[in-house]
Amino acid sequence: MGETLFAKIIRREIPADIVYEDDEVLAFRDIHPQAPVHVLFIPKQAIATLNDVTAEQAGLLGRLLLAAADYAKREGFAEGGYRTVINCNEHGGQTVFHLHVHLLAGRPMLWPPG
Ligand code: 5GP
Repeated sequence: MGETLFAKIIRREIPADIVYEDDEVLAFRDIHPQAPVHVLFIPKQAIATLNDVTAEQAGLLGRLLLAAADYAKREGFAEGGYRTVINCNEHGGQTVFHLHVHLLAGRPMLWPPG
C-alpha cells in the first residue's frame, strides 16, 4: 500500500488546518466537512485500515479516541454530543487508506447512517 496524502499532511508537505498534535496523533479539519465540526484524528504511524491494527497497537487506537474526546471537551461540545466514525474499506466508505477517526459535531446526527 502506497503512501497517502495524510502522510504528506503529517510532514507538512501539503497544508491542513491542524487543531491538535502530540507524539503519536495529529488532528486536522476535514477539507469537505459533513458537519459544523468535522475533524480527522490520525496516527502519525502509517496504518492503512482498522483491519491492519495489531494487538500491540491497541493503546494507540485508544489514544486516538481519547484525543477526540479531549478535543470535544476542550471545545465545549462534549456534553451536547458528537459522533466518532472509522470507515473501513469499500463498504465502510473509506477513501483515504491511512487510518483516521472522524469527529463530527455541531448538529444532531441521524441514526441509522446511510
Ligand atoms: P474516509 O472516506 O476515508 O473515511 O475519509 C477521508 C476524509 O478525508 C474525507 O472526509 C475527505 O473529505 C478528507 N480529505 C480528503 N483529502 C483531504 C485533504 O487533502 N485534506 C483534508 N483536510 N481532508 C481531506
